[in-house]
Amino acid sequence: METSGLHAAPAHAAARGEQKGQLEYRGRGRLASAFFPQARTKVERSNGRFTNDPKCGMLSLMTQAGDERPVSKVIGSRQLTDSTFVLSVERGERQFVAGQHLALGLPGSHESREYSIYSGRMDSPIEFLIKEVDGGLLSKEFAKLRAGDSICMYEPWGAFTLPAPKPGPQKFMFVASGTGIAPFHSFVRTYPGLNYQLLLGVRQGSEAYERDHYDATRFVLCTSRDTQGDCHGRVTDYLKTQPADPNTLYYLCGNYEMIKDVYSLLDAKGVPKDNVRTEVYFYF
Ligand SMILES: Cc1cc2nc3c(=O)[nH]c(=O)nc-3n(C[C@H](O)[C@H](O)[C@H](O)COP(=O)(O)OP(=O)(O)OC[C@H]3O[C@@H](n4cnc5c(N)ncnc54)[C@H](O)[C@@H]3O)c2cc1C
Repeated sequence: METSGLHAAPAHAAARGEQKGQLEYRGRGRLASAFFPQARTKVERSNGRFTNDPKCGMLSLMTQAGDERPVSKVIGSRQLTDSTFVLSVERGERQFVAGQHLALGLPGSHESREYSIYSGRMDSPIEFLIKEVDGGLLSKEFAKLRAGDSICMYEPWGAFTLPAPKPGPQKFMFVASGTGIAPFHSFVRTYPGLNYQLLLGVRQGSEAYERDHYDATRFVLCTSRDTQGDCHGRVTDYLKTQPADPNTLYYLCGNYEMIKDVYSLLDAKGVPKDNVRTEVYFYF
């Protein structure tokens, strides 16, 4: 597989609406609207339009009927590690497909960031697994939110979803780095009996993010900085020791480097490109 052109390719892929078998860039809201064609898709898909909104910054999604609905109430949050928490927000009438993400912002700010939906399709409130990023602008502010606070929550979108109408007996391998586990948590909550293996790569065993929510026989934790995981090292170290199944669908979510490395590894093992789907959270 050629990897040298990956930075350039995703925007074109998104423009063609392609997802399967290639790395697709999903830019943050503020960048996407400026540089990436998928921002147009976002508006078209939701039948909405962007307009000025004094409560939630400059960009606010409005329906065609014009009823504004970006502000929601925070229900609470639960701390999973020193820097990672699950934020619960009132769901209202919002519908989504497991695996989708949406942009969150703060009243009075023009900034927003995208977050995969952590909760299941039928769950209420809606939840997000968020890591406070050192030097980051919004994640640290989201960490301060408490029950009753306001948050701007835009419409869900994205095609990092399981085959419709339901996954059936299809085998899945979910590979996550860090909070990239969020869409997989939503899959598992949404589809009981899902035939999956989940591989989570983190630094330390304390980052096993609600491991008890998954079938223990299907969950493998790789820790790179301690030996508390099922596997010591990166997810690629684990995958190198495993046979690849050309009939399994592989979903990769998290940082770009992990996704690039796993993608190349699967390619070398003969997994068809069409069987690999990706969601990139950040590049560096
Ligand atoms: C489709 C999509 C879904 C996402 N889902 C989630 C999610 O479920 N949970 C979640 O925590 N984040 C998720 N992100 C990342 C999120 O949008 C923000 O980038 C992140 O919270 C940092 O925002 P910030 O404003 O604090 O930092 P910023 O000021 O925006 O960025 C600071 C720097 O941190 C880098 N960065 C971003 N995320 C991380 C990270 N996790 N670890 C280390 N460095 C990072 C950025 O690339 C940037 O260089 C997702 C991103 C995308 C594109």
